[in-house]
Amino acid sequence: MSTTVDKSKLQRIVVKVGTSSLTYPSGKIHLRKMEELITVLSDLKNRGLEIILVSSGAIAVGVGKMGYDKRPADLPGKQACAAIGQCELMYLYDKFFSQYHVKVAQILLTKDAFEVDERRENVTNTFLRLLQMDVLPIVNENDSVTVEEIIVGDNDTLSALVALIVQADALIMLSDIDGVYDSDPRKNPDAIKLETANLNSKRVREGVSGAGSSHAIGGMITKFSAASLTTPAGIHTWVMNGEEPKDLYRFFDGEPLGTLFVEGEEDD
Ligand code: GLU
Repeated sequence: MSTTVDKSKLQRIVVKVGTSSLTYPSGKIHLRKMEELITVLSDLKNRGLEIILVSSGAIAVGVGKMGYDKRPADLPGKQACAAIGQCELMYLYDKFFSQYHVKVAQILLTKDAFEVDERRENVTNTFLRLLQMDVLPIVNENDSVTVEEIIVGDNDTLSALVALIVQADALIMLSDIDGVYDSDPRKNPDAIKLETANLNSKRVREGVSGAGSSHAIGGMITKFSAASLTTPAGIHTWVMNGEEPKDLYRFFDGEPLGTLFVEGEEDD
């Protein structure tokens, strides 16, 4: 299936970056990658795009900052690490983005911000005003206060919910893999990266979940669920590799990087 999007028409973009793109396994910040991402996003903003960044990493960075060798198992421990790490993350974002004179703002959300009408309206207005003020919002889940009733749970879904309320033109979820494959590339050297992934295809879903393997590939299950929210709403949604943030230049110049989610025929 071939679907082309005129990327030069995309204006309001939500970019989601995950913990593995921002940190080393120890939880220490991967400064080179973080700095590169910030440079590219600042430059894309200079090009005229409106960018909202959804960034994970709070818990891992908190764990790294405290020098723990693994994440605490209990909820208060994780929430405390999130509080420590979020602060460090925002300090670095603010510092690096400031080098390019980009002003940033932090928005921490829980699920009720999207579900309760009045809260959704308030948070939407905040986003829109920040964009109008030429500020780049940086979003994470408010991990330190989330309990079961109000948790979104993963930042792919969070990025989709944000894209919906701000009526973004595109959502780009950066992963540690190039896109959606037709089978598990770790097992099948002939696996092919799909340029478009049909959300309605059982075959694609099975490839996405890495059926038969113990781990889903590149967090693809939640990326698929996120795209199931945004694609039907007309928000062009891609997953692409976040390893080299400069690839975003090639992406916006029209190269077919990553995988675009589409709604096609059902095959089951
Ligand atoms: N909010 C979590 C964090 O910042 C990450 C959740 C996710 O990556 O899906 O550590």
